[in-house]
Amino acid sequence: MCNYWHGSTIECRGDGYMWDADYDGYDPEDHSMPCPACNTRQYLLDARETGESISYSSGWSGDWTGEMMWLGGVNVAMRANPLDTPRILRQIGIARPIIDHPTNRAAFIVKFHDHRNERRLVSRNQREGRYLKRMEKGSRDE
Ligand SMILES: [Zn+2]
Repeated sequence: MCNYWHGSTIECRGDGYMWDADYDGYDPEDHSMPCPACNTRQYLLDARETGESISYSSGWSGDWTGEMMWLGGVNVAMRANPLDTPRILRQIGIARPIIDHPTNRAAFIVKFHDHRNERRLVSRNQREGRYLKRMEKGSRDE
């Protein structure tokens, strides 16, 4: 059972999607907020789609470019699901989020993010795990 939550009342319903627990109920057909922890692939696909279609957004959480939306989504996924996110990013491959053109209001700039060689970020933890095991072994040998 997934118990991912975000902020104070946004939490995973357990079916791969988030809902606002402040409301009395939710529509099981509402799939607007994929959970980054247990539905990471859909979460990242949605983040990519948003980042590739909206060059700039201004809201209560601040100003965002499409590129920031994509990279922010990658960050959230990495934190929520560090074991699977690098593999999912490799499969998703390339993201082309957009940002506003600095001078031409009618144009935007397409950025290029290649995730095909995304590394597993847990390798350091694994190294430390091995290090700790060696320390334990070492102390037993004394
Ligand atoms: Zn979840």
